[in-house]
Amino acid sequence: MTSTPPPSTPPTRTPPPPFTVEDYTARMRRAAADAAAAGLDGLVITPGPDLVWLTGYRPTAVTERLTALVLTPGQDPVLLLPRLERADAEDAVAAPSLTIIDWTDGEDPFARLAAFVGAHASMGIADSAWALHLLGLQDAVPGSSYRALTQCLPMLRAVKDADELARLAAAGAAADATYEQIVDVPFAGRKETDVAADLARLLREHGHEQVDFTVVGSGPNGANPHHEAGDRVIEEGDAVVLDFGGLMDGYGSDTTRTVCVGEPSARLREVHEVVRVAQQAGVDAVRPGVACQEVDRAARAVITDAGYGEQFIHRTGHGIGTTTHEPPYMIEGEEQPLIPGMCFSVEPGIYLTGELGVRIEDIVTVTDTGAVRFNTTDHGLRVVG
Ligand code: ZN
Ligand code: ZN
Ligand code: ZN
Repeated sequence: MTSTPPPSTPPTRTPPPPFTVEDYTARMRRAAADAAAAGLDGLVITPGPDLVWLTGYRPTAVTERLTALVLTPGQDPVLLLPRLERADAEDAVAAPSLTIIDWTDGEDPFARLAAFVGAHASMGIADSAWALHLLGLQDAVPGSSYRALTQCLPMLRAVKDADELARLAAAGAAADATYEQIVDVPFAGRKETDVAADLARLLREHGHEQVDFTVVGSGPNGANPHHEAGDRVIEEGDAVVLDFGGLMDGYGSDTTRTVCVGEPSARLREVHEVVRVAQQAGVDAVRPGVACQEVDRAARAVITDAGYGEQFIHRTGHGIGTTTHEPPYMIEGEEQPLIPGMCFSVEPGIYLTGELGVRIEDIVTVTDTGAVRFNTTDHGLRVVG
């Protein structure tokens, strides 16, 4: 069995309307207010997911040339960028919502930026900022100090509005449609990378503009949670962990199911059932006001009680939005209470070194009364060919 599946007909899909100037203005205003509330003088946002979320601007190439958004409470937002990228930015950003200032090659961009960052200012800076840019800013502004954005404002992007929830739901549905088709492709006799290529193709066919990961962990490779996909030829009897996702209309998908090639062993059936019950327990723990760590504890208790606690070697979940890994994290020690509109994964797993792995993952959102799943494909142990 080495034939590739027939190409499926791409579904027709109407992309959601873009976010508005008002959306971006409100986000920037809230970020500045949150910064003030956290005792900061402002925020410096270089290219990355925060800049996209705040302004809609994603430079085509992130380079050594400095681009930075400065948000200061009570002042208009300023976007400093290289002159040659000005036209691109003007097309992309909600222009009335901020002032664009450009610098030309040969000029010192940090001296320009320093005009908007006061001496001795305490600033939050995007996690994705290059060391080159942070060091240049530190040199240009005497006594200024910086904290990583996810350290000082971890929940800035965590609570999604209705338009963001609709995008995440659509991305989840596209990932689910991918799963419904991947279970019909041949597994036995093909390489993991072949199945991974099918996953990537299907995600794009169902509307993803970006594929972030296509994990195909067959047999013993499944015991490595972040094994991507390799040359191993999938065999009859293998458990195969399928974990895939990316961005659709700018928002993430991330789902995992574990399938079996042919008849599952008793061991696989047992382990899979423990993970299935643990995943359900994690989702059942989701309610407004409950600490993130309680979701981890609920899933972990099931696995520990079944005797596999040592083999559940990662946290239970992570937030998702304009990236596929972001706060809030479902991990012991995270006391942040859940808030309606937060979106994150619930993905317990059991990893038996040298033998097999099982993980089940859904994205959920917190509602007023509990959780709603954005991934709804069957949790049962599916037999594939
Ligand atoms: Zn991961
Ligand atoms: Zn995943
Ligand atoms: Zn995940």
